[in-house]
Amino acid sequence: MKTASMKPTILIVDDMAANIAILSDLLQDDYKIKIAKSGQKALEIAKGSEKPDLILLDIEMPEMNGYEVCKELKNNTLTNNIPVIFVTARNDVKDEEYGLNLGAVDYISKPFHPTIVKIRVKNHITLKLKSDWLEELSMVDGLTHVPNRRYFDEEYQKKCKEMIRDHKTAALLMIDVDYFKRYNDHYGHGKGDECLIKIATALKSTLKRPSDIIARYGGEEFVVLLQSIDHEGAQKVAESLIEAVSALGIRHEYSSVASHVTISAGMAFKEAEEALCKEELLKMADDALYRAKESGRNKIAIL
Ligand code: GH3
Ligand code: MG
Ligand code: MG
Ligand code: MG
Repeated sequence: MKTASMKPTILIVDDMAANIAILSDLLQDDYKIKIAKSGQKALEIAKGSEKPDLILLDIEMPEMNGYEVCKELKNNTLTNNIPVIFVTARNDVKDEEYGLNLGAVDYISKPFHPTIVKIRVKNHITLKLKSDWLEELSMVDGLTHVPNRRYFDEEYQKKCKEMIRDHKTAALLMIDVDYFKRYNDHYGHGKGDECLIKIATALKSTLKRPSDIIARYGGEEFVVLLQSIDHEGAQKVAESLIEAVSALGIRHEYSSVASHVTISAGMAFKEAEEALCKEELLKMADDALYRAKESGRNKIAIL
């Protein structure tokens, strides 16, 4: 997420250096500027890791023109949410209609009035940042601030394809708080909420690798995906998650398994050559969790 101190990034695409210079002079105080002198280069930058927040796109360029660039940007899920403004010498209404129909948010004909360009750019950037923010919010659990189920399902869908294609091992952990209904009943829902926040934070900080994914999957259920890990390693991580929650030492006088809050975990493991994914692995992890509960709680069970 962009912090207030970070300038939004604008990519200026034009085959003429002089045109780039004019727009860049106009906008560089307020934005971080990137430039591309061809359509190909523009696509490369737009698909890169540091995506622009807005693209100012010339139409007439040799090899690949601005319309083609816009089409490609809008057809690719990596780039289709980056707003595009055409900035062009073409001022026929037909060209403008064509450009807007391709998905551009605005169309500026030359010669343009610098302050008007500045204002239009600012308006579109404001909308873009708001939509990024909403997108982020929609993926985070409001109570615990770890990713939510929607995020997990989307991310998992992508990761599954990769894991099968690249023959990666994977472990899926389904985690559930033990005797949590009793906790709520005795300490109140507010304390229950606090407890879930602490648990989520402990689980998250126990996971060390950037590729580890955790999400709140339901009321008092969390899900964890570990990739490219061996069976023994995954088991160790699962044990350390259980240990981390125990170590919080949250008093639970009404638990039948300990004097503090504990969790149980079910683990499903996918070998490198197995093409298992979402439904199968989730079902296996869920069945394993059931076993962990049946056989006493505060432990992991593996299928
Ligand atoms: P088990 O050990 O078998 O998992 O027993 P349990 O009591 O944890 O299981 P059960 O599914 O009966 O109860 C889950 C409880 O979790 C019930 C519900 O009130 C509570 N819960 C679910 N979501 C939230 C939440 O967002 N906040 C609070 N405070 N409680 C929640
Ligand atoms: Mg040109
Ligand atoms: Mg439950
Ligand atoms: Mg429970």
